[in-house]
Amino acid sequence: MIPYGHQSIDQADIAAVEAVLRSDFLTQGPAVPKFEQVVAGHCGAADGVAVNSATSALHVACLALGLGPGDRLWTSPNTFVASANCALYCGASVDFVDIDPRTYNLSPAALETKLAVAAREGKLPKIVVPVHFAGQSCDMQAIHALARRYGVRILEDASHAIGGSYQGAPVGDCRYSDIAVLSFHPVKVITSGEGGMAMTNDPELARRMRLLRSHGTTRDAQEMVQPPDGPWSYQQVVLGYNYRMTDIHAALGTSQMRRLDSFVARRRQLVARYNEKLCSVAVVTPFCAPHADPSWHLYVIQLKAQEKEARGKAFDAMRAAGIGVNVHYIPVHLQPYFRSMGFEPGDFPEAERFYTDCLTLPLFPVMTDLQQDEVVAAITIAVTNGLK
Ligand SMILES: *Cc1c(COP(=O)(O)O)cnc(C)c1O
Repeated sequence: MIPYGHQSIDQADIAAVEAVLRSDFLTQGPAVPKFEQVVAGHCGAADGVAVNSATSALHVACLALGLGPGDRLWTSPNTFVASANCALYCGASVDFVDIDPRTYNLSPAALETKLAVAAREGKLPKIVVPVHFAGQSCDMQAIHALARRYGVRILEDASHAIGGSYQGAPVGDCRYSDIAVLSFHPVKVITSGEGGMAMTNDPELARRMRLLRSHGTTRDAQEMVQPPDGPWSYQQVVLGYNYRMTDIHAALGTSQMRRLDSFVARRRQLVARYNEKLCSVAVVTPFCAPHADPSWHLYVIQLKAQEKEARGKAFDAMRAAGIGVNVHYIPVHLQPYFRSMGFEPGDFPEAERFYTDCLTLPLFPVMTDLQQDEVVAAITIAVTNGLK
């Protein structure tokens, strides 16, 4: 089976992990701040707070931005559930903004309309979470302008997008946001095993997220709220969690960063090749907005077939041919848990239309041209048969 995504681990990655295993610190050692510096340096952000997943990063980011009961968070329905769950962890409510049918990203036009209505009704969100689907940046300048106008904070879910750029600058620089979150799960662009990082240019947000990732405790006298008992003292000043990244994971992440550029270059090459080879097949290949140079975490096509079950048939045919296709994403508002909060089919029609026809083809840096040719041949047959 050719998988839809796969990590690339080399000898240097293994050596980096082994070195930590032989060192004094498996966690809370020097490898974590080093990883934070390397990623912040790459992204051009002032700071990065490493945690054990992007999901944890979204949670501490929301808390640091002050999200709580009675507040609202808006995100894209075309995402993984974690982009929405972070609101619920904080006791806030969640709502969605429909996608742009070309980029599949949160639509600035839909956001503008929804914000105007919410402002009239006194129901503005505290945070908007744009998701850079497939590694293509949202139109952050437009989203930022709207957020400024309405006093809304911006938390980028950049889980797909490390290595991508927007307006020529790296995703994660937080030029148009308060915080940007990265994921290092093995299917993503680089991996630390599990892991995530919250990038920010705001020292106060970074300080709060560092407190929250480690039980809300501090050994820094400046952060203590009562006189310390003695030199051994630590104080819990807020309710935090154990969301720490280990040194083992951080060392792998740092080692992977050396190959980030080559991973993304190979992804771009494979995407160009897919686009070229699929132009005569009845599918919609990904659209790339002029402001973005995506990292291409995913290669998602849409089937043009009129037949209702076309995607399902193509999915089955590809899996039968040994090709690990996937579907990104089932709109979050259609998940049973979200349906139970009152969301219904028809609420976000563009995301639902996209879901009906989308299919994710394999894409990962160690994929060979030969494997890609196999995928192209199989999808060509699957689509042609589907049209009969
Ligand atoms: C993978 C992913 C997450 C969650 O990342 P983890 O590191 O697995 O917690 C969140 N949002 C999006 C869009 C993702 O793709």
